[in-house]
Amino acid sequence: SREFHPADSVIDVGYGVKIGGTELAVMAGPCSIENEEHIFDSARAVKAAGANILRGGAFKPRTSPYTFRGLGEEGLRYLHAAGKAHGLPVITELMSVRDIDAVCEYADIIQIGARNMQNFMLLDEVGRVKKPVMLKRGLSGQVEEWLLAAEYIMAQGNPNVILCERGIRTFETAYRNTFDVNAIPLVRELSHLPIIADPSHGTGKASLVTPVAMAAIAAGADGLMIEVHNNPDHALSDGAQSLTYERFASMMRSVGAVAAAV
Ligand code: PEP
Ligand code: MN
Repeated sequence: SREFHPADSVIDVGYGVKIGGTELAVMAGPCSIENEEHIFDSARAVKAAGANILRGGAFKPRTSPYTFRGLGEEGLRYLHAAGKAHGLPVITELMSVRDIDAVCEYADIIQIGARNMQNFMLLDEVGRVKKPVMLKRGLSGQVEEWLLAAEYIMAQGNPNVILCERGIRTFETAYRNTFDVNAIPLVRELSHLPIIADPSHGTGKASLVTPVAMAAIAAGADGLMIEVHNNPDHALSDGAQSLTYERFASMMRSVGAVAAAV
């Protein structure tokens, strides 16, 4: 907490990118790594628009086991190669301790997904490695529970933790999740850890992503996670919330204007 660590943590994620400092961290890319060519093209497009970190899922926590669950280790190799080719650090989700060595080999940041926020054994294990870890807020995670989950990682010796607000479940069904903008200034008050906003999962709807991204930056977020796909209607996961390359570039301009004003 701030009480014991008053200064903001700044986390070096490689390729000269730091999260929590003065520059905004923008993690962008497809929900899932779909094939080699697709992740390379996504890397090129998001970098051209100003993203500084590439995202892509290889182990996907899908609601239905009959939908695409990711390419696994093959996907990790494509993601790593695409990041290297375009000079971008990469982030991907680790769902199971089983895959920790592979994820550490190929990723610059380990993502712990919302569904695993309180998977304490998994948190212990990522606490024992030195890789930066981005911990997403659980679907029904209270802020205090989320900060204590981050403590699990740090208590094992890994101080490189980044938080990510990705929306919570409420009574509202008009959108997939309710992005909790309140959490951003509150977390900044309570914690020294950087906070990233994910308006893609936070809304579930592409048309809402840019305004909510702008609100998150105005509220003090250190960066964004944005799902981008060249053809959202044909995405293997989360197409409804994915921005096209053009829409992502336009979002970057809007967010840049907000960042310059705050
Ligand atoms: C994702 O980033 O694609 C993802 C599955 O996120 P969350 O854990 O927030 O649902
Ligand atoms: Mn997704």
